[in-house]
Amino acid sequence: MKSKIMISLLTILIIVVIILLIKTTQIELTQISARSNDSMMSYIIRTSDNKTIVIDGGLKIEVETLKQYIQEYGNKVDYWFITHPHKDHVGAFIDIVENTDIEIKNIYYSANTQEWYNTNEPKRANEAEEFYKTLQNERIKSVIKTPQIGDVIKIGKNINVEILQTASPEITQNAMNNSSMVFKIHVNDKSILILGDVGTEASEKLINKYGKNLKSDIVQMSHHGQSGANEELYKLVNPEICLWPCPQWLWDNEPGTLKTLETRKWIENLGVKTNYVAKDGDITITVK
Ligand SMILES: [Zn+2]
Repeated sequence: MKSKIMISLLTILIIVVIILLIKTTQIELTQISARSNDSMMSYIIRTSDNKTIVIDGGLKIEVETLKQYIQEYGNKVDYWFITHPHKDHVGAFIDIVENTDIEIKNIYYSANTQEWYNTNEPKRANEAEEFYKTLQNERIKSVIKTPQIGDVIKIGKNINVEILQTASPEITQNAMNNSSMVFKIHVNDKSILILGDVGTEASEKLINKYGKNLKSDIVQMSHHGQSGANEELYKLVNPEICLWPCPQWLWDNEPGTLKTLETRKWIENLGVKTNYVAKDGDITITVK
């Protein structure tokens, strides 16, 4: 009798251990909200095997917030993806590289030459210049990668990042934004599409190349939710969840000249029920 109980207990214990060992892959994705009145984009992801991924990172003013998350997650960044070198995307990145000893293990970005920025977006070419200067920093020089379209970066068991679009030097309107790196994060069978700040022209390029393959469960709304990707692209993405890196005034189209309300209407028409908007503060979601 006693040995039967012992065998039963042992069997239960083995089953529990097996369940713990095959714990399914999941990520926690946080959309960080702006710490000033300016719009920006910053995401941090922690994987179930404790890897940290940062996407862009926001303005320099958001650096303390980002640092707090990174410290909480082990004080290192395993993968840092940068969509494009506008300061509302790379300001905090520059500060962390220049003024901290936080270890960054891999940096992925795609951008054009400084000359190209000088010619095509002279007003903000200094932002690219500051970014390029930081990429020369000895402590990160060897971990910088410029991926190609079609590359798949394996982050862990059942987590992959697929590069859909890199810089587009041929597009010279809304130049820097249209050269955003676009990628899809696959977690098990779920997908998150990161659009950066792509505009109409880069949307057309994506639509022509991928069509229905743009379908994703979650999408980051391009250019903070206004004057970014076009309606046709969002129709093809057909998301269940939208992430809006968008402060209150932008969400409400306070200046009256922005396209946020139009974009919101498109998403409403697609029947999307879950919108996470940065105006409501930092939001963490689990994807598994
Ligand atoms: Zn931008």
